[in-house]
Amino acid sequence: GNLANKIAAGEVIERPASVVKELLENAIDAKATQITVKIEESGLKSIEIIDNGEGIARAEVALALRRHATSKIKDVADLFRIRTLGFRGEALPSIASVSEMTIDTAAANNGDESGTHLVAKGGNITQNDPAPKRVGTRIKVENLFYNTPARLKYIKSLQAELSHITDIINRLSLAHPEVAFTLVNDGRDMLKTAGTGDLRQAIAGVYGISTAKKMVELSISDLDFEVTGYVSLPELTRANRNYITVLLNGRYIKNFLLNRAIVEGYGSKLMVGRFPLAVIDLKIDPFLADVNVHPTKQEVRISKERELMSLITKAIATALAEEVL
Ligand code: ADP
Ligand code: MG
Repeated sequence: GNLANKIAAGEVIERPASVVKELLENAIDAKATQITVKIEESGLKSIEIIDNGEGIARAEVALALRRHATSKIKDVADLFRIRTLGFRGEALPSIASVSEMTIDTAAANNGDESGTHLVAKGGNITQNDPAPKRVGTRIKVENLFYNTPARLKYIKSLQAELSHITDIINRLSLAHPEVAFTLVNDGRDMLKTAGTGDLRQAIAGVYGISTAKKMVELSISDLDFEVTGYVSLPELTRANRNYITVLLNGRYIKNFLLNRAIVEGYGSKLMVGRFPLAVIDLKIDPFLADVNVHPTKQEVRISKERELMSLITKAIATALAEEVL
């Protein structure tokens, strides 16, 4: 029921950026190629995500607001081979339980079936009507945490919330160069990526064209891992540790040891306390990764981590050495 949803929300939906992350992942799972994010007051007033993905069938929209009713996990083996980003079936119910949510959607390729206009407040559906067909899904989340004052109180600065949101969108833009992302905050364009599928162009959308041009491509593999991506030259080090993005099988992850391996690849070329700008794309057998460690799914346990670390360090050192020659 709603209480369980609110409890789950406390765990996964910490702040406006958590909402943005979950809704974006759903749009990506629905194979959207264009996603627009519009926020007001750093997402506290409203968060609107418009995608051109597969949409939700009329009969399934209300179900999507029920916990675990829709999990993308079909069997136990799926747990070990997670390919879609969302797999718990609790994001939408959690978000809905602590906000006012409006969903406009229609399933693609579903004959004459109409679309849906659904409104829920605190997770209770107040409207669920047929609507004209449309392409994709629009989900608007208003007055987040209106019924959880303790959570609201903990949010201190709009500036900090905005930077959490841009951080999420930056990482997802780098993880999905095939998707054109747009972010509009209080009517101002904040980010636009090309959606061409080219990682360097995605980097250009996030960090600027001149930065992207100066980055060096890397590529190396062994029997277990494939490491590709781009790293900045040592002189281009206005970056701090936040400018390192590690993608594992298309998913943004946080891993302290892999970050260390990246910095190590710079050897003595990097001044102490400086960090490179790097986007490292790892392809590994899903059986070597356990992404089921934390509900927000960013922490990952990797087998043969040491082997991967030295491969990454070597990839960067080699790419930079070739550039100097
Ligand atoms: P999960 O992603 O773990 O399945 P969610 O609570 O995030 O669970 O989403 C519930 C369901 O709603 C999804 O499984 C999906 O079927 C549907 N859904 C949510 N957002 C979208 C979207 N933007 N486009 C298409 N379907 C969506
Ligand atoms: Mg999801």
